[in-house]
Amino acid sequence: MTLSITHLGTGSKGNATLLATDETKILLDCGFSGRQLEKRLALLEICPSEIDAILISHHHSDHSKGATIAQRRWDIPVFANFETCARMGMDPVNECKLFESLERINLGGDLSILPVSVNHDRSDNVGFIASHRGERAAVVTDLGSWNDELIRYMSDCVHISIEANYDSERLWEGPYPSQLKQRISGRGGHLSNRQTAELLANVVGSHTRSIVLTHLSEQNNAPHMAESEVLLEIDDLFSGDLSISTQEGPDFSHYLGQSESEKIVI
Ligand SMILES: [Zn+2]
Ligand SMILES: [Zn+2]
Repeated sequence: MTLSITHLGTGSKGNATLLATDETKILLDCGFSGRQLEKRLALLEICPSEIDAILISHHHSDHSKGATIAQRRWDIPVFANFETCARMGMDPVNECKLFESLERINLGGDLSILPVSVNHDRSDNVGFIASHRGERAAVVTDLGSWNDELIRYMSDCVHISIEANYDSERLWEGPYPSQLKQRISGRGGHLSNRQTAELLANVVGSHTRSIVLTHLSEQNNAPHMAESEVLLEIDDLFSGDLSISTQEGPDFSHYLGQSESEKIVI
């Protein structure tokens, strides 16, 4: 009676997150090669053919490059919005199950996903809010800014996975060309550690038990920097588990629908 949330890996080299209940297994994003996906799922004793659906947030290859392979090789249905589907090179009518923002997607009897639009780098990106037996988890990445709608849907989720892409100082002092620095830090780029901390301060609630910081830039960030910036901001608001997802997954799972006595102590 639980929903587990397991990052298979996050970062600019590939993103995929496994959501699994007793009845349903889905991937949010599929940015790994078929072989990598198979290998990472095998560490969780799961075959790719057991995956019921893949939902793609946006077309950037670190989120989508394994989708067509997974569909062809293991016959897994791919869900995306029209723009993402088209920009992945898939036929929106025959090869994709299309969704629209704020249109609930029911997957099996015990899991539903609500895509929420976010602003990101000339893409039609969405964050995902998963619901399982009255509890919610947010998996949101690749956004340069947020609006009230996103705050509303992320508020008081039991689990929150959110990108913490870069440390501002490292980005600006680093070797990237200035145009790229501006793109990353702009309203449609990625969230800095500081912005992630601010967003979390707006959405963490009394039900929030776990937070994972994802999609850290290897060049412009470090786990201890992201963690300390966020803790500084939310220390008084949050006493749950804060962890970092790296490129080398799978990471430890987080759970919805688990009573206190059932909690796995790692
Ligand atoms: Zn990305
Ligand atoms: Zn992106």
